[in-house]
Amino acid sequence: MNDGLTIARIAGIPIKIHPSWLLAVGLIVWSLAAAVFPAIYPGWSTATYWAVAAVTAILFFGSVVLHELTHSFIARARGLPVRDISLFVFGGVSTISGEAESPGDEFWTAIVGPLTSFVLAAVFFGLSFLPPGDSPVAAALQYLAVINLLLGLFNLVPGFPLDGGRVLRAAVWKITGSLLKATRIAVAAGEVVGFAIVLWGIYQAFSGNFLGGIWLVFMGWFLTNAAEQSGAQVVVGSRLRGLRVGQLMDTDRVAVDARTPIADFVDGFLLDGNLRFVPVLCDGKLCGILTLHDVRRVPRSQWPEVNVGQVMEARDGLATVTPDDSVEGALRLLAERDLPLLPVVAGDDFKGIISRPRLLSYLRNREALGLDQHGDFPHSAAA
Ligand SMILES: [Zn+2]
Repeated sequence: MNDGLTIARIAGIPIKIHPSWLLAVGLIVWSLAAAVFPAIYPGWSTATYWAVAAVTAILFFGSVVLHELTHSFIARARGLPVRDISLFVFGGVSTISGEAESPGDEFWTAIVGPLTSFVLAAVFFGLSFLPPGDSPVAAALQYLAVINLLLGLFNLVPGFPLDGGRVLRAAVWKITGSLLKATRIAVAAGEVVGFAIVLWGIYQAFSGNFLGGIWLVFMGWFLTNAAEQSGAQVVVGSRLRGLRVGQLMDTDRVAVDARTPIADFVDGFLLDGNLRFVPVLCDGKLCGILTLHDVRRVPRSQWPEVNVGQVMEARDGLATVTPDDSVEGALRLLAERDLPLLPVVAGDDFKGIISRPRLLSYLRNREALGLDQHGDFPHSAAA
């Protein structure tokens, strides 16, 4: 979840809101004001239903943030850097960019979230006895107790990437000593859970609860996807572990001199396949990037006269790596910035590129040679 608006920072952790979250807020306020509260507590004014629904929704999302914050605090206390907490249509997510070093790290980081939700449920339940039993305040507190209890229980379902799936992974990792095996099992469980939620959603949709059913279908589909993706990330991460950029970079005919005419550039690079994103050099140093888009802006008749340096995008803000950087880190950067390749530089000197196709062919070759069948990578995880 990269895109989102940062609304606050708590203990240095950015709290972000994804646009899809507004849909969740709208649905929850609307269902509370129009359906839930009127059914249980008839006789309030319309304004009261909406006001109580809005306050309840705010406290509910506050509870979700607290759940995520405790994940983040424990992760950080165990040395795992936390990038941000995002709220989106299906709830909250903590983006932890480090790697769990041990089953213990994984277990405590995961379990603390549901525990927080249970504590919140107990607190709201206790508070609900203070106001008169049928008052709007008591109604909100009772609802918050129930919803936090459900949130905690749902997150304990043992399918990756739910908290329960992470607890399962930690347990299998602890027992077998293999993170890869543990990830495979937790991911498979996550796919089953996601699929079951999709089926449940379809059943609900055809039993009269159309909106709720559709929402469940999307959530189940999202969970299945997230399980697959995090599984693939761990597997790929474990296979690239220990490799340096310098070992996998391409150095031959991967950059173009700024004085090259566009026509020569097109002829020279068309056959190599990469015209999409080419590093440009000025006296051997990286000074910009040329993209297909830059080339297209020049009328074809001018290709022989216009130089690459005249149309390239200057180097400012360009993501680069050094030959000593880890390949895993480079892969993360490629994914985060959605780039096809990264220029490799040492100091001021251009050394080569590291590209997605190159990483993919490395991984494919490993697989073809059967190097990964008995792979065991005990001390790694990409969460
Ligand atoms: Zn959680």
